Amino acid sequence: MPRPSPATLAVSAGRPARNQGSPVNPPVVFSSTYTSIEDPTGSLLYTRYDTETWQPLERALAALEQAELPGLVFSSGMAVIDAALRLAEPGAVIVAPRHAYLSTLTAAHEQARREGGTVREVDIADTEAVIAALRPAGEAPAGMLWIESPTNPMLEVADISRLAAAARAVGALTVVDNTFATPLLQQPLHLGADVVVHSVTKQLAGHSDVLLGAALTSSTELHERLLARRRTGGAIPGPMETWLALRGLRTLALRAERSEQNARELARRLEAHHLVEHVGYPGLASHPQHERAAAQMSGFGPILTLRPRGGAEAAAEVTRRVRLWLPATSLGGVESSLERRRRLSAEAASVPEDLLRLSVGIEDLEDLWRDLEAALTASVPAGS
Ligand SMILES: *Cc1c(COP(=O)(O)O)cnc(C)c1O
Repeated sequence: MPRPSPATLAVSAGRPARNQGSPVNPPVVFSSTYTSIEDPTGSLLYTRYDTETWQPLERALAALEQAELPGLVFSSGMAVIDAALRLAEPGAVIVAPRHAYLSTLTAAHEQARREGGTVREVDIADTEAVIAALRPAGEAPAGMLWIESPTNPMLEVADISRLAAAARAVGALTVVDNTFATPLLQQPLHLGADVVVHSVTKQLAGHSDVLLGAALTSSTELHERLLARRRTGGAIPGPMETWLALRGLRTLALRAERSEQNARELARRLEAHHLVEHVGYPGLASHPQHERAAAQMSGFGPILTLRPRGGAEAAAEVTRRVRLWLPATSLGGVESSLERRRRLSAEAASVPEDLLRLSVGIEDLEDLWRDLEAALTASVPAGS
């Protein structure tokens, strides 16, 4: 059989073996330890090391990301990001997007402080600038390139294959946080990345009911190191969370298709609207990396940014006026949500004060549009 498409793998990968009378879904095992009398090599020993409840999700994510080894699930996206950052040698330079996920930048800077390393923040969409930052004249070459594409919340799109090749040429590992695209739209290992990390919390699980993270790699050495970190760090997901994530993953393709349809149409309508200053969406021809996104990804995802006329106050008012859209952080759920990022004191100052990040869900498009347009009309002062 040829390799099934990601939409099929989301449904079919990680199922139990088809034996007469076996369940079609993996059982959830609540047990912290296993019977063990002899040398435990090759059998389950203790749940912080491995458990049968993780394996189906780890196999499914590996199939989706085209990883040659099973994935490694962690208790949250940040738990896996912490483990992946530690793949950089102590004291290494880490090149990272200036608009990476906030806690990722915090974790990278904390690690650099602890170990005497450096974080070089770059505009990840500016390929030449990133390549220059990997090996600046007279300075140490980078040990790790961290990529997010599209970035959060500015939706900048990186040229993953060129950057991964440039990183490899200077001996740096490339890690891609693929949370925004999901493996449905882009498979970074295939584009040359060494490790992919996910906040499974977001669109992969998809129902805003669970926190979970995962790492994928085809390198035995990196897999071993991530596994060792999970064992000693102990940031493991519980059986119920793992089961919920796999349950959510089964409908990924349907949810993603509907969310993107909604997002595309909302982006188009908002861009033409007289109360709107700016719309950011990689699927719009006006997006600075629209063509790169179209070539690299097989879709544009559910996230867009909106800057209403009337500045930060009008943007804040939109989040108070919406009735259907949920004013909340996080993204990738079945429900549409929005937030003004700069209300968070830690958000980068280069993110505009009036920027709303919208995560588009699977509700009826016209209901979403009516609610958002009514909120805009009530929030933007006349004459702005
Ligand atoms: C949410 C998010 C994370 C962190 O994941 P948690 O599951 O909340 O720990 C990391 N990267 C991106 C891009 C995210 O959106």
